[in-house]
Amino acid sequence: MRLFVGLDLPSEMREPLALLCRGLGPVRWVPAANYHLTLRFIGEVAPDRAEEVDFALASLRVPGFPLRLGGLGVFERNGRIASLWAGVDRHPGLDRLQAKIETALQRAGLPAERRRFSPHVSLARLESPLTPTIAAWLQANNLFRTPEAAIRHFTLFRSYLGKLHPTYTVEAEYALESTFIPS
Ligand code: ATP
Ligand code: MG
Repeated sequence: MRLFVGLDLPSEMREPLALLCRGLGPVRWVPAANYHLTLRFIGEVAPDRAEEVDFALASLRVPGFPLRLGGLGVFERNGRIASLWAGVDRHPGLDRLQAKIETALQRAGLPAERRRFSPHVSLARLESPLTPTIAAWLQANNLFRTPEAAIRHFTLFRSYLGKLHPTYTVEAEYALESTFIPS
């Protein structure tokens, strides 16, 4: 099974995100139901390994924290734009959660993640040079920000890759501690 750990986004963030996602012609917009923030991609694992992952995640004790999305960016691959995303205001609570998850998963026997944590919410997949239309969209929406929302749990997702869009299902949810790191 293909797994990743992430945050499903609070409802007050989904609507402003969905309103952004228009006006670009033929791009594969991420369906609003799929909006998420990946904390740790795990990939394909056997069911018994998945159980160990679940056990490791369930043992974490991490405080809740506020989250706010803001700004837009692109990931490039081979000189082309591969995705458009909304940025995330860095907060020590988010970084602490990501670090604890990484440590827990390594202790459970997964190989270390080599890439630096770069939190974002993917909005569109494409494969295109930076066209004037995309540049204009980035510029027009550059001041995008969502309201701040409290994060009180994180999620183990299962991903089923599809022709057009993947489907994500919730394997498990893990509550964060009620102590809350303020903004
Ligand atoms: P698709 O691959 O069809 O575009 P997706 O990337 O959303 O869909 P997955 O590939 O299952 O679906 O990835 C789930 C999440 O993990 C996504 O947020 C994705 O960006 C992230 N992810 C995928 N592969 C990696 C990787 N190698 N390293 C870090 N994050 C990854
Ligand atoms: Mg992918």
